[in-house]
Amino acid sequence: MSLHASIVRRILHPLTLWKRGETRQLSYEREFERTQYASPEELREIQTRRLHLLVKHAFASCAFYRERFAQAGVSPEAIRTLEDLRALPILEKTTIQERIADMVAEGWPSRDLIKNQTGGSTGTPVPFFLSRDRKSSRAAATLRHNRWAGWGIGDRAAVIWGAPRDRPSDSLKSRLRGTLLREPLWLDTAGLTEATMEHFRDSLASHRPRIIQAYARSAVVFARWLEATGKSVHQPHSIVTSAEVLEDEDRLLLERVFGCSVFNRYGCREVSVVASECAAHSGLHVMAEGLYLEIETPNGPAKPGESGSILVTDLLNHAMPLIRYRIGDVGSWATGNCPCGRHLPRLERVGGRVTDFLVGAGGKLVSGVFLATYVVAQRPSLGQVQIHQNRFDRVVYKLRPGLAFDPLIDGLYLDNATREYLGEGISAEVEIVEDFPRLPSGKFLFSRSTVSPKWLSHPAGQPVV
Ligand SMILES: [Zn+2]
Repeated sequence: MSLHASIVRRILHPLTLWKRGETRQLSYEREFERTQYASPEELREIQTRRLHLLVKHAFASCAFYRERFAQAGVSPEAIRTLEDLRALPILEKTTIQERIADMVAEGWPSRDLIKNQTGGSTGTPVPFFLSRDRKSSRAAATLRHNRWAGWGIGDRAAVIWGAPRDRPSDSLKSRLRGTLLREPLWLDTAGLTEATMEHFRDSLASHRPRIIQAYARSAVVFARWLEATGKSVHQPHSIVTSAEVLEDEDRLLLERVFGCSVFNRYGCREVSVVASECAAHSGLHVMAEGLYLEIETPNGPAKPGESGSILVTDLLNHAMPLIRYRIGDVGSWATGNCPCGRHLPRLERVGGRVTDFLVGAGGKLVSGVFLATYVVAQRPSLGQVQIHQNRFDRVVYKLRPGLAFDPLIDGLYLDNATREYLGEGISAEVEIVEDFPRLPSGKFLFSRSTVSPKWLSHPAGQPVV
């Protein structure tokens, strides 16, 4: 480890947390470092203890959960084992949208409520709150899962991301801080052109990150361009992909172009990292000390290998409890033990969001995640949305409208947003649908484009501009 990395890890990291009043993160870091090798019995014991605290607290502090317990005819004391939780109904996203005021813990100090919302690629955005303590445990969880990919605090990192809102500010002070604390290099994929790809390549060459964290589709487009143009690129120690489905051929492409291992990760804004691959790449280990995961089929809990709907109970967020929350993704349990020796349960597969890039004016690529975050999530009246593009000059928005949908105003909004982000000459078309069938794999299709710009290598048969 370099001297700089060592100073960041041992001195600057703890001091920064102390200044922010978030030193709890350090104790979570120590805890998760140890419990990742805990026995299955100890892990269950940790989850059960946290579940007891959560259900008692939710009952005592949230009108919404008191109602739920009453409807189910159970008391918090009746939830003794993890399996007993099945007595409570599944929590749907639409219920949170309607009842959020009754879900935030009564009397919780407003200065300890951190507001956030989902990005809109799996449906209408969902608002939620978390406590500062939960922020700390989430950060500690992410750190642990980054260490599995060979990255520690103080090591250089780059982030190829489709949602610029997550990006730190660009002021001089913040840039200095970033250099000193080894904060990651940010590469924005809101709009991709050959010029931005060149810029990525140069930035990676000078920054030389050990790890690249990326939206799966963004990394894939970048890699396709590198391969198509035959350009060399900085070879990191590993790539962590998240936010979107990583297909097998994507993994092979990234490994080939970046000459490193790819670690798939599954997470969401509501609960942060849900599961990650370890170096054995044998499924994704669940962040079980903070989350209790269920996979539910129409016939009850899924057997290993059987696909079902992922339900999550956040064991550590008392500011706004989420119990049996349906994330909206489909997954299945892996069988057997992982060669790495960790007993954290493993997901075999996760079928998340499919978010293709759309092609804008002049062949610019615009990430589906970007449109989900900045166009769809900003406007709840649009409801659930799918974006299709099979011509260069037109995108079709399929909508299952939300409550306050106004055909004229919402239609104009989409038309304006399309021209703003995809460029003049690209028109928007709206189609109202009853429902969105899931893909056979259980994935949710948010955006799909069958056109490809000339500058990107493309499979045979696709039209090009
Ligand atoms: Zn493992």
